[in-house]
Amino acid sequence: MHVLIFPARDKDGKDIVDVTRQDRFTLVLKADKDYPEAVCMWHTPFDALTPVPPCAKCGEQSSAKWSFCPWCGQKLPASGAASDATSAKEPAPPPPAEDKEVR
Ligand SMILES: [Zn+2]
Repeated sequence: MHVLIFPARDKDGKDIVDVTRQDRFTLVLKADKDYPEAVCMWHTPFDALTPVPPCAKCGEQSSAKWSFCPWCGQKLPASGAASDATSAKEPAPPPPAEDKEVR
């Protein structure tokens, strides 16, 4: 088991990932010549950190990562919309960015 610790913010002080929005988070590990490069990728939002109501149509539990209910096809609310009251006053978020890398 390995535990990786790295800063939560980049050199400009911005969070390296917003775990409540739909995005991807990529970690590239480059150890040395004895170990090949390893790439780990996660999709956000992280369900453990994002409260998600059940599907409004069928009542099944949903994931913050899903745009549509896999059980009935109902469109699901955008992640972070219910819990972030200030987002309505902000301009539209930028389109999904390319992978963020931590080296
Ligand atoms: Zn449903």
